[in-house]
Amino acid sequence: MADKTLFEKIIDREIPADILFEDETVIAFMDINPQAPFHALVCPKKPVAKVSDAEASDEGVLGHCMTKAADIAKDAGFEDFRLVVNNGAGAGQTVFHIHVHVLAGRSLTWPPG
Ligand code: AMP
Repeated sequence: MADKTLFEKIIDREIPADILFEDETVIAFMDINPQAPFHALVCPKKPVAKVSDAEASDEGVLGHCMTKAADIAKDAGFEDFRLVVNNGAGAGQTVFHIHVHVLAGRSLTWPPG
């Protein structure tokens, strides 16, 4: 069996995290190295490495990640927020288990770095 991803270890409670939300298909927790006053991650429990590896059967859970990401930002009191998905090392991805970054609480300029 392939080694567990870091986020699978969080899902399995092998690594501690500040968990905000969890259901059968997704989990959300605070980022350990926040890039904004509010920085959470939402990921599917199924460990697909990158969005570009996702299949049609993953569309439902990926959409669920997006709507939950928005709910989490709104529940934290933010009307404006940014959702980011890095795809591949060249785009800044360091954990190869799909996740949506939820960033809020400061001015978010465009274009991003
Ligand atoms: P990315 O660079 O898009 O793959 O994002 C990975 C994110 O995971 C980074 O923002 C890290 O700060 C975050 N991260 C790494 N380890 C942990 C951890 N143990 N708990 C919470 N977030 C983590």
